[in-house]
Amino acid sequence: MTSEAFGKLVAHARETGKFSSILALIEWDERTIMPSQAGSYRAEQVTSLSGFIHARRTAAEVGAWLDELRDVDWENGPHGDEASTVRELRRDYERQTKLPRSLVEALAGAAVRGQQAWVEARRNDDFSEFLPTLETIVSLRREEAEALGYESSIYDPLLDAYEPGERTEVVAGVLAALKTDLAPLVAAIADSGRTAPVDLLHQSFPIDEQEEFGRSAARRIGFDFERGRLDVTHHPFCATMGPSDCRITTRYDKMFLNPAFFGTLHEAGHGIYEQGLRDDQFELPPGSYASLGIHESQSRMWENQVGRSRAFWEHLFPAAQQRFSSLANANLDDFYFAINDVRPSLIRVEADEATYNLHIIVRFELEQAIMGGDLPLADLPQAWREKYRDALGIEPPSDADGVLQDVHWSAGLIGYFPTYALGNLYAAQFFAHADEQLGGLDEQFARGDFEPLREWLREKIHRRGRCLTAAELVVDVTGEPLSHHPFMTYLQGKLGPLYGI
Ligand code: ZN
Repeated sequence: MTSEAFGKLVAHARETGKFSSILALIEWDERTIMPSQAGSYRAEQVTSLSGFIHARRTAAEVGAWLDELRDVDWENGPHGDEASTVRELRRDYERQTKLPRSLVEALAGAAVRGQQAWVEARRNDDFSEFLPTLETIVSLRREEAEALGYESSIYDPLLDAYEPGERTEVVAGVLAALKTDLAPLVAAIADSGRTAPVDLLHQSFPIDEQEEFGRSAARRIGFDFERGRLDVTHHPFCATMGPSDCRITTRYDKMFLNPAFFGTLHEAGHGIYEQGLRDDQFELPPGSYASLGIHESQSRMWENQVGRSRAFWEHLFPAAQQRFSSLANANLDDFYFAINDVRPSLIRVEADEATYNLHIIVRFELEQAIMGGDLPLADLPQAWREKYRDALGIEPPSDADGVLQDVHWSAGLIGYFPTYALGNLYAAQFFAHADEQLGGLDEQFARGDFEPLREWLREKIHRRGRCLTAAELVVDVTGEPLSHHPFMTYLQGKLGPLYGI
């Protein structure tokens, strides 16, 4: 009986996975090459397919199979494929069935309308235009949190959607400690009297050359172009629509090297994780990513720990100089300093490694206040300005560059921001451990050898899929729970010599 129920559950999940991957494909198309007038019909396609998938995931037969499998003692333990498949499909089923279809549809509709309203409000630099939409979204997500239930914090069920099993209290503790330690580092950098020669990066970089250069770096670190693609979009992302079909995207600025190059490394890092997941478990939890925080740890590691290291550029800088005449007379020391420039800025997506997490902490604190009902939404722009003054010492001159800068809230994504900071911390913790175990990654990078790190990540993280939660995985891989210390050690080790602090 048990094996029959398991077989049916898996077959059903695999079939649902095919519809989900088709959804990913039409969404990728929408964000890359779809004609502009095709939007409204595409929205109908996405809504219909989403509703159909939700119905499949909440079908009564799924509940019946899960019931039959409730007390099974799986042979290969609680983190083996079978137990993990049942546990995670149950988690998904229980979450989905708690949400009435009307709420799911209301949220989907609000997200589409929210993004349209956000684009307008941002263009007009007018928060009041966006306020009614935001009020709708917050009240729907509050309704969702109530339907899902929680013990201590209404933020928990929202965070749980992106970081399964994680608790607000734990994240808040880690990020508060991080904030305390970051402040003196950022202040010392500001007082150092040294500034990076960033003009080097703001020169002419022909787009076709940038594309070739980025593509070759992505290939070199291990993104497989036989099983993936690189395309152009406005807001870069990575999407997977089959076990051998991972799409990454980037955007080009012909007068600035960073967005496309480091963006490509970042998305290639996401892609290497997706390509490292187990093919035989595609559509099932053991072949799925662990959490968004773990996903982001993979992208940030290749972008920063690897891509902004001196060793990486010892290998790549001669090729960069050959390709870009604007770098012909530059030297490696200046270039390395320029790509590691630290200074407080207003825009999250342009922030450096040291200040980036402060942008996230601002949003995390505001989201908790909003969801807890402690902050009226009309007061949000003012609260944003105060938090930026407090955390970064600067204040946005406009809401367009302040509270309206990110798409997330307009798309209903509340509870998502902390996964970016978690990703940075997980990346540093994993990387420190890999460096210790693999002995001298710098020497390998300087030779252009990225395979040992990639294979280490594949074995320790990618091939584990969702058999462990993020919190379990970090203990399993590094022997320690998540901590901000490896990240601070990493920053100090890099920025200390650059800024003489
Ligand atoms: Zn990312």
